[in-house]
Amino acid sequence: MSIKTFFKDFFHLFYPSYCCGCGTTLVNGENIICLQCLQNLPLTRFHLQKNNMVEKTLMGRIPYQRATAFCYFQKGSIIQHAIHQLKYKGNREVGVILGELMGQSLMDSPDFADIDIIIPIPIHPKKQAKRGYNQSEMICLGVQKSMHKPLDTTSFVRVINTSSQTKKTRYSRWKNVEDIFQVVNPDNLKNKHILLIDDVITTGSTLEAAANCLLKVDNVKISIACLACANH
Ligand SMILES: [Zn+2]
Repeated sequence: MSIKTFFKDFFHLFYPSYCCGCGTTLVNGENIICLQCLQNLPLTRFHLQKNNMVEKTLMGRIPYQRATAFCYFQKGSIIQHAIHQLKYKGNREVGVILGELMGQSLMDSPDFADIDIIIPIPIHPKKQAKRGYNQSEMICLGVQKSMHKPLDTTSFVRVINTSSQTKKTRYSRWKNVEDIFQVVNPDNLKNKHILLIDDVITTGSTLEAAANCLLKVDNVKISIACLACANH
């Protein structure tokens, strides 16, 4: 037994870690998510399926290359608990781990082989200061680990904080988010195939606004990957 393992086990004796998917105590070798939850992730396999649900949602709104989501966002599911941990409980690691798994799956599709750069949907600096991090950036860190592509978190920013949009209709939401993003360094992005990453896609309004802002840069191509999509 290594010193590191010894101290890890010793630490766990007094401060056990719990699975962010099901809440059971993690055993040695498990990290953040238990093996059973990993095996039961509600995978979509959309990356292997053109004209999938996410692409249908965004069709005619974003001229994407490919668009996909890693899992179905079912209520009460492992992935819902995990994303709740990522967004509201300060659990960055779960984003990195799920991002890494999503990145591995994207490698199975030739459509994502020519990605040049990974970009998270930015959150407003005020929100980021409050949460301590951008949850989509944590997902990107995992995707980067698997895909070995550069991550850019500075060229594309959010300039307007939109917080209470949940009750508005799709159209007014879109009007609301239209100008909330800005490309501050187009030279870093021109001629690139960008993989835009978000946590959950529901109506697609945020992705639509973000992608169409990025597409103003010369000769940019966009693909989209979200950790989960609402199953409707
Ligand atoms: Zn679990």
